[in-house]
Amino acid sequence: MTDLNELYQQVILDHNKRPRNFHKMESASGKSEGFNPLCGDRILVYVQLDEQQQIKDVSFEGSGCAISKASASLMTEMVKGKSREETGALFNRVHAMMTAPPDTPVDTTGLGKLAVFSGVREFPIRVKCATLAWHTLLSAIEGLPLE
Ligand code: ZN
Repeated sequence: MTDLNELYQQVILDHNKRPRNFHKMESASGKSEGFNPLCGDRILVYVQLDEQQQIKDVSFEGSGCAISKASASLMTEMVKGKSREETGALFNRVHAMMTAPPDTPVDTTGLGKLAVFSGVREFPIRVKCATLAWHTLLSAIEGLPLE
């Protein structure tokens, strides 16, 4: 777990300092705002779907703690090209990983760098920070018409 914890710190620091896809999107087909009152994290997620209903582009703006920002940044890197269903399924896996008991093994296959968020299990209060971007993205997508 030590290696993963170190990686967790590094990834969070890196993405907090240099968040990816951190900008407003003028051409967004959908957007949603999320707020985590427990910590004060506030986020705006923009999403653009292509003709196949897959995520063509996604970006975010807002302010919050390092975990909320790093989670949003990593999320935008992971969901591009995914369908609505795939995005929801990926979040379900991330959420399960974050809320599993700290002493149990987690299956991080296919989660890429998101695997570092298994470190959040040690700090349950931070789960809301780490999942804020995901909830906000899913509500942005749900608000879009199915074509
Ligand atoms: Zn937070």
